[in-house]
Amino acid sequence: MRVASADRPGTRAQRVVPATVRAIDAHVHLADEEWAAAMGDERARSIARAFGREQVVVPIDEMAAEYRDRGMLAVIVNSTDATVTGRGSVPNRHIADVVAAHPDVFLGMGVVDPWQGKLAEREIEHIAELGLLGVGELNPARQHFAPNDERFTPLWRRADELGLVVLFHGGYAAAGSNTPGGGGVKLRYSRPTLLDDVAADFPTLRIVCAHPSWPWESVALAVAMHKRNVFLDLSGMAPKYLSAEVRQYVRRRIPDKVLFGTDWPSLSVERWLREFDELGFEDDVRQKVLLDNALALFRLERELGDGTGDGTGDGPAAGVGG
Ligand SMILES: [Zn+2]
Repeated sequence: MRVASADRPGTRAQRVVPATVRAIDAHVHLADEEWAAAMGDERARSIARAFGREQVVVPIDEMAAEYRDRGMLAVIVNSTDATVTGRGSVPNRHIADVVAAHPDVFLGMGVVDPWQGKLAEREIEHIAELGLLGVGELNPARQHFAPNDERFTPLWRRADELGLVVLFHGGYAAAGSNTPGGGGVKLRYSRPTLLDDVAADFPTLRIVCAHPSWPWESVALAVAMHKRNVFLDLSGMAPKYLSAEVRQYVRRRIPDKVLFGTDWPSLSVERWLREFDELGFEDDVRQKVLLDNALALFRLERELGDGTGDGTGDGPAAGVGG
């Protein structure tokens, strides 16, 4: 049971997902030593308070074993706000190393600091060379940038050319929550409507608006319904708090556009799944949210039950954005 990783730099692998995989957690952070050092105590404490869950160091091998036992893949995202805060971050190379160490359970994304201009463009190329799936988690509220600002257009163009997914944090930020000045985090940049502009300008760029994007949930739903190349992930909010409107849209209007994601370690996988199951979605919707939509978005190939790939190279909603 393994997922093929990139065979050479610059080539995103045809990844084959074993038939035994039941779900893909599309939004997972690291909690290893390297991450803890980059995060800093103060920021880690504000996030822990917002979620009511203590942040502890979890070694990579332990994290991999947990996902393996669940029959799940995890898409590990990176983060940075270096220009705004002066704080260091985990290098994208580390994400690639973590994925390479456990290719049967991990997929990864690398991040850039949009204010770094050409350097950020080059880092996007590096992300592709590392065999990572995309750019994320970009956090406009923490990074103080408007995704639709033309100064950042070259970044989205490069990601589009390289076939990378781009994942943006949407809505409220746990980082800085209930601290003086919100730790400098500016929520207005994480309005999903800013992503609508990017999606319109780059119709083949696959975009994820991460989290239900409270207090702009309705806007996020509208953008995902209007732009075929925009997906939402349900991470960062315990499912029991999902509004009636979000549940209705997941069930009836955009069941092909919504991804299971936890935001682990802020939310536990077990809690997320338990509360999601309690919402009583139909089996086909559940299957799409937990697995099929991520296969389509990330262009992963599902192994058939007899252990061979199906050879199509595309998920059930092939052609999204392309
Ligand atoms: Zn986020």
